[in-house]
Order: sequence, then C-alpha cells, then structure tokens
Amino acid sequence: MSHMIELHKVSKYYTNKDTVSTGLSRIDLNLDMGEFVAITGESGSGKSTLLNVISGLDTYEEGEMFVGGQDTSAFKTEDYERYRKTFIGNIFQDFNLVNSYSVYQNIELSMLMCGMKHSDCKERVNELIELVNLGEYRRTKVSKLSGGQKQRVAIVRALAMHPEFMLFDEVTAALDPEMVREVLDVIMELSSEGQTMLIVTHEMAFARAVSDRILFMADGEVICEGSPEEVFSSEQERMKSFLGNYQNLLS
Ligand code: ADP
Ligand code: MG
Repeated sequence: MSHMIELHKVSKYYTNKDTVSTGLSRIDLNLDMGEFVAITGESGSGKSTLLNVISGLDTYEEGEMFVGGQDTSAFKTEDYERYRKTFIGNIFQDFNLVNSYSVYQNIELSMLMCGMKHSDCKERVNELIELVNLGEYRRTKVSKLSGGQKQRVAIVRALAMHPEFMLFDEVTAALDPEMVREVLDVIMELSSEGQTMLIVTHEMAFARAVSDRILFMADGEVICEGSPEEVFSSEQERMKSFLGNYQNLLS
C-alpha cells in the first residue's frame, strides 16, 4: 500500500546568477496518515525547503514525490493548486495574517478563497474561534492581538477547510516565551484529532512528548530519524554517534 506522501531521492537547488546552493539533497521520506512527525536541525539545514516542497509551495529538480499515490512530476499548476486547497494547511513563523482584518475576517477569507459562500462560512468560523478560545476577540483586528493569539488564529485559519495534512514551520520561534506554551497546547490538542502533522521545531521536550517520529536534518539531508524513544534513549549510542557534531540538537 502506498504512503500518504513519498519522497524518493528528492533534490532541490536554488540558482542565483552563477551560484547554485542545495536546498535538499536526495531525500527519502515516507509519511503516513495520522502521523505526527517533528523535524529539527540547524538553521540552513533544509527544514523549510522540505516543508515547502511537500506542500507544493516549491518545486524540486530531481527525484520523485508521490502524494496520495499520485506522481507529482506530472502535476500542472492547477493540480498543485487543488492539492494545496484540499489537502494542505500551512502555518508559518510570521503568521501571514491580514493585519487590518478582524479575527473572524481572516478565517473567513481562507474559506472564501477556497470557493465557499459567505453564508456557509459563519458556523464553521465561529466554531474555530471558540476552539482556540478567542471568542471575545472575534471582531478585533489582528494587529491588536498578542503574538500567541495571532498564531492561534493562523492555526485555525489553516484548519478551516479540514486539511488532511498540517505543516508547521517554526511557528513558536518568533513568540515571547510565555506565549509558546499556549500555541504548543493548541497543536497538541489538534494532534489528537488524527490529522497528519509535520512540524519544524526546536522545542525538543514538546517534540519528544507528542511525536511519532523525529527527523534531524543537516546540509539538506535527513541525517537521523527515529521514534522519540529511539532518538533520546541513552542506550541508543548509535544515534548519538550518527549525529556526530550535531549532538546539541538532542538537548
Ligand atoms: P532551514 O529552514 O533549515 O533554516 P532552508 O530550507 O531555509 O533551511 O534553507 C536550506 C538551504 O537552502 C540554505 O543553504 C539556504 O541558504 C538555501 N536557500 C533557502 N531558500 C533559498 C532561496 N530562496 N534562495 C537561495 N537559497 C536558498
Ligand atoms: Mg526555516
């Protein structure tokens, strides 16, 4: 049986004038329905590139990627658009919200963009706002919210169309420490809903507590992967020797 997402030796290069830099280098990766996978690694190791390729925001130059058993090399622009609209929810470090819109309008906007009618959005939007306890801010402009509140809006906005697959790219990295917890709690709650989650994070205690699998990246490659038990167990010296200079990622 095929996996939900399959990458076979996928490479991605960035070309700027005469320089070529590697974003991803021959990545092999399978993701299954309902899995919670955390990715960590130093800055520039390819984490965002991996998420962007999987979510169809970025192209790849070599290898093959299958989504739901379909080969994406044959995908046209509209196939990627459909895939993104029906299947993917992206959440980024910098929220990507419309600051002059209210909480309600921001969530509704993503549903309208997916083709829903105004009148059909109301119930779902209100339900999502309650889900992240922002009921009293329904009509508040996003520019007036704290970072943690903004990120909670961004998360439920991504959830609005029930995507099968949620991808989080360092969504707590820009938040003040006291707001990190409220956002991680929301993500943790979602993880029990059975959606597939791929999350780039440096919050190792969190990753350890909730992940089925943790991947470590360096230089565009996945250099180590395993369950939290495998990755963190003191018996797993193999993992440590594997990580070499990157041992600090475990702490
Ligand atoms: P991470 O998210 O782990 O910090 P990225 O995926 O952003 O890493 O970057 C991986 C590599 O690709 C880095 O060497 C980075 O400099 C390069 N890269 C990323 N985006 C671009 C871009 N738009 N143009 C050129 N190089 C890029
Ligand atoms: Mg990044």
